[in-house]
Amino acid sequence: MSFKTLGLSEKVLQGVNAMGYVDPTPIQLRAIPLILAGRDVIGSAQTGTGKTAAFALPILTKLDRHERDARVLVLEPTRELAAQVETAFRDLARFTGLSQTVLYGGVGYGLQTEALTRGVDVLVATPGRLLDHIGRGTCHLRAIKYLVLDEADRMLDMGFLPDVRRIVEKCPRERHTSLFSATIPPQIESLIQWAMKRPETIEIGARRTPAETVKHVIYPVAEAQKTNLLLELLKRVNYDSVIVFCRTKHRADRIAHFLKRNNHAVAVLHSNRTQREREQALRGFRDGRFEVLVATDIAARGLDIADVSHVINFDVPQHPEDYIHRIGRTGRAEATGDAFTVMVAEDATHVYAIERFISQKIPRVKLDGFAYQYTALFEQDKPGAPTGHPGRVRGVRLSGGYYFGHARRKRR
Ligand code: AMP
Repeated sequence: MSFKTLGLSEKVLQGVNAMGYVDPTPIQLRAIPLILAGRDVIGSAQTGTGKTAAFALPILTKLDRHERDARVLVLEPTRELAAQVETAFRDLARFTGLSQTVLYGGVGYGLQTEALTRGVDVLVATPGRLLDHIGRGTCHLRAIKYLVLDEADRMLDMGFLPDVRRIVEKCPRERHTSLFSATIPPQIESLIQWAMKRPETIEIGARRTPAETVKHVIYPVAEAQKTNLLLELLKRVNYDSVIVFCRTKHRADRIAHFLKRNNHAVAVLHSNRTQREREQALRGFRDGRFEVLVATDIAARGLDIADVSHVINFDVPQHPEDYIHRIGRTGRAEATGDAFTVMVAEDATHVYAIERFISQKIPRVKLDGFAYQYTALFEQDKPGAPTGHPGRVRGVRLSGGYYFGHARRKRR
């Protein structure tokens, strides 16, 4: 199946050509005809599957020609995603004469208001700033025909659902709605019931399966050696570009500082950075000026960063879904990638949850020649050691018939 047979307009096909896309991705094959036919669509697909073009191409085809009032609204959870999706629309729409703009917070209103005054066909926005514009009277949604709720589960995580509902209420009832979400928790299910009409669900691949080209490895280590192990990994791995994920902004700053002191070209991405700093970090990482990007989950979610060769989880994610999102950065499209996770003893339950979630036991690997301090984690892979919960390590049988741990001692 080629793009030509999907029913897209000639001008939109020119945009597809100019982007160098040859074959539609699975989600594009399924979503494009449905959206062209006027159906509401729920897409559960990871980023990197081509989901942006899956909704942008049919919508641009339907718009046909420029009008003054915005007819398309795409809601995104973060500024970066909003900017990225607007760029995708801009690229794909370049031969159509249609216009678009992006609205997000953290920057002045001036340019956004000017663009709105000129009139745009497609609005890509984060919920808060869009509501601000509506409140100021600089924007209205009365002409919206196509509404896209992108990364809905992340909007839920970030507490945006009440804003999303307020926005949906301001759109006409006669409209087409698409929703994209990696997972469909109950709150999203009820949003679907409320905001969509007889939606068709498209699931691309098993929702839980990370990109098959990704190799997963866990590196167990004592807490005190985490940063040194990270440094050693960066030394030994032949990488082009690495994202290092940390649990908090503070830890991301600390790790970035540490890596810089050790002569790595590092950029940091988290929500305490200004918009300009975040843009500089992303641009520098994309064009190769920075080889390492240290990021938190929220900041990096869904960003289209091409050619990431390695993802390193410096901190184990607390939610298995975040593991999938993080490693979604690597192994995108045809590229292969590696996902490394640094694990300390207290991470064990989170690691088990991830392994259950991806239905896969991740191999534990020790770096040859690294001066490891002892950690109970090393006992787990020994023959006869219990698998399962790390608490049971205390009952491991050691050589010489000794037992370790209170339970055993009491029974004797
Ligand atoms: P997305 O999942 O929308 O973030 O897209 C991920 C990346 O895939 C983006 O860089 C797109 O430009 C690219 N892409 C989307 N559709 C195709 C396609 N049919 N062929 C090749 N690349 C594509």
